[in-house]
Amino acid sequence: MAATLIDGKALAAKLKQNVRESAEALPRKPGLAVILVGDDPASRVYVTSKRKDCEECGFYSEEYALPAETTQKQLLDLVNELNGREDIDGILVQLPLPKGLDEREVLLAINPAKDVDCFHPYNVGQLTIGTPVFQPCTPGGVMEMLREYGIDPAGKRCVVLGRSNIVGKPMALLLLHAHGTVVLCHSKTPDLKELAASADILVSAVGKTGLVTAGMVKEGSVVIDVAMNRNEAGKLCGDVCFEEAAAKASYITPVPGGVGPMTRAMLMKNTLTAAKLHQGVE
Ligand code: NAP
Repeated sequence: MAATLIDGKALAAKLKQNVRESAEALPRKPGLAVILVGDDPASRVYVTSKRKDCEECGFYSEEYALPAETTQKQLLDLVNELNGREDIDGILVQLPLPKGLDEREVLLAINPAKDVDCFHPYNVGQLTIGTPVFQPCTPGGVMEMLREYGIDPAGKRCVVLGRSNIVGKPMALLLLHAHGTVVLCHSKTPDLKELAASADILVSAVGKTGLVTAGMVKEGSVVIDVAMNRNEAGKLCGDVCFEEAAAKASYITPVPGGVGPMTRAMLMKNTLTAAKLHQGVE
């Protein structure tokens, strides 16, 4: 069977268009502040793309590029200043932070109502009990894809590979809230291959090129590849051996052009949600 390709790029463009239309109807433009500490080239690319997304959605955006020597206090002072700004609805601190800075303390300092990444324990708690204000961007993007393609996790066996706080764990929660039967796997899972091969919906978020082979894909299943790895040739790729998996799956996401663009679009959606919240608009 040749799988249907889940086109994250097209869906993200549609989502951003909808966000733009809703933003235009607000009394004030949504505002996003992005803080980058240090000069990690990958982080710089992400920050630049966030600025472009803000432009596309008609948002106001500010970028703070701080030197790697920035102290914890300086960073916290900036977060606190942005917490108090009425024109800023969302605050995003680009991770990872350089060594010596306490990531946890910084994320805790962000006003939960401006935590558009959905990393603050308050928002993680809301997500856990099923009443999220914001959707965690990457797993939220995956759920949008499933919805768009008419894939309902209810009653399905959903296997998630990877248990990080930003992808695997919230992914498992969202699938659970959508009434999937969820198995969350990690590096200590002994029977990973068998579990993956039993999945109706398989989500891989590990970061290991070639991890998911055809033998781990159930005939007719949905395969979502979250990973963004570089192969030996330096080309962007996922965890899934795409061609062989696509021959068995019913739906599959490509890398690039799958989950990545959806993550970016969900950040815009969350910033819109925050702006509505702050402006008292339903
Ligand atoms: P991470 O924090 O490194 O977590 C990786 C997870 O994979 C961990 O839970 C780890 O288990 C598990 N793992 C490692 N080796 C394994 C193995 N052989 N079998 C099963 N599980 C294994 O990574 P992350 O931040 O979640 O990111 C995962 C991937 O998604 C990366 O490629 C990243 O670039 C990508 N990503 C993409 C987007 C997007 O927008 N598309 C967004 C975020 C991340 P332990 O917990 O036991 O160590």
